[in-house]
This record gives sequence, C-alpha cells and structure tokens, in this order.
Amino acid sequence: MRRPLVMGNWKLHGSKASVEKLLVELMVKANEVEGVEIAVCPPLVFVGQAERLLRYSQIALGAQNIDVNRQGAFTGEVAADMLGEFGVRYVLVGHSERRAMHHENDDLVARKFEAVKAAGLIPVLCVGETQAERNNGETKDVIGHQLQAVVKRCGRKAFDNAVVAYEPVWAIGSGQAASPVDAQKVHEFIRAQVAAQDPASAQALRILYGGSVKASNAQALFMMDDVDGALVGGASLDAQEFSGIFNAAL
Ligand code: 13P
Repeated sequence: MRRPLVMGNWKLHGSKASVEKLLVELMVKANEVEGVEIAVCPPLVFVGQAERLLRYSQIALGAQNIDVNRQGAFTGEVAADMLGEFGVRYVLVGHSERRAMHHENDDLVARKFEAVKAAGLIPVLCVGETQAERNNGETKDVIGHQLQAVVKRCGRKAFDNAVVAYEPVWAIGSGQAASPVDAQKVHEFIRAQVAAQDPASAQALRILYGGSVKASNAQALFMMDDVDGALVGGASLDAQEFSGIFNAAL
C-alpha cells in the first residue's frame, strides 16, 4: 500500500515569525495523526530555521527548487547536496510557475530531477496542462511529454523513489480544483505511463494532486484509487486548513 503524502508548497510566503508560528501549530496537529506523511516546502532562506524547529517532529522538509549543478560559479543558486545537509528530503522540480516564469523546459526539469536523485533526495516532479491545452484535448500529450523527458534522461527506473504531482495549471490558485473523477483519469494515465517503463516503480509511485486543494474538497480527491495525497499551495499556509487536508488522507 502506498502511504499518503500531503505536502505544503509555501511558494514565496513567510517571515521568521510566521514560519515559527505555523510550524509550531502544525507540529501539534501532526502529532495526533499517523498513517499519513506530511511535508512542508518553505522558501529556501527558511530551510535552516525549519530544520531546527522540526528536529523532533515527524513533519518532513522539502524545497521548492534547486540548480542542476553541484557546485561552481553559479551565482544565486543552491545545490541539492546543500539542501540534504539541512535535512531536506523532497525537492519540487518542474512546478508550472517555474516552467512559465523561469523558462524551465522539459529537458532542464529532467536534469533537475536527475540532480535531486544524485544527491540522494526525492524529486517531486510536477506535471500538468494549461487551460488552453485542456481545451484542445492535449492533456495526455503534454503530460506524456513531461514524463518522457525524465525517462529519457534517467532511464526506465526513473520513478523509483520519486513522487509525481499532477497540478493542472488552470486549477492552481483559481479556487477551481479538478473534479475527483477528472483527477483520477489523469493519475491513472500517469501510472500507466510509468508502468510501461517499470511496473514495480509504477505500483509504488505516489501521485499527488495539486490545484486549489482545501480541507473541504480533499477527502473526495483522496478517495480516488490513484490519488495518493496532495501538493497544497495557499491552504498550506494556515495550520487549521492544512491539518484538515492531511486528516482527510487518513
Ligand atoms: P494552490 O493550492 O494555491 O492552488 O497551489 C497549488 C500549487 O501550486 C502547489 O504547488
């Protein structure tokens, strides 16, 4: 059985004070649950603070981005190994905001995926179609390409010890989550694509749904066979709301 994973992507939000408040509140709530893995991805500058606060907690730490390089003259970047030193377990790669605003194409995303694995961390590959692509019936094409780029670079077992997050771009921050049935269709497709490469990694692969997940819609999504958790943006900034989501995964 796949253990559900509920991750918070804080994006560009927070201050030292708000990070402390939120994590302290979350640790209390997370102590009461078992059977679901919880993770948070703060902005990079707060990773050290989060590591200290979470030291005795079961909440895992994630990062939102890395550079493909391990070291060198790459001003402003951070390497996966460095994050590993701070207890980071998960790294998001290919979030649609980075694809759209930071010109990350499938190939660069695949290189980041590879770099995360090389550092012994777990990549969370974000895939998803835009509204226009959905309207044109291109959802499977787009996601197929996003997955293929990673297989091409990392081989048939690429998704061993990795996570995939299906985040339809039109659902992110819009208040309009995909319906559970629509999400399930895409998750099933993703698992089949991975199974065509390596059935065992497909079986173990956790596929998260992301895009306007809230406490009120989480349970219906988690009921779907191939929805193994959530990648949560806005609602992860509020302890009450976020705990409502991870409690729905039990
Ligand atoms: P929202 O939950 O705010 O829609 O964001 C989803 C997301 O982009 C998580 O990575």
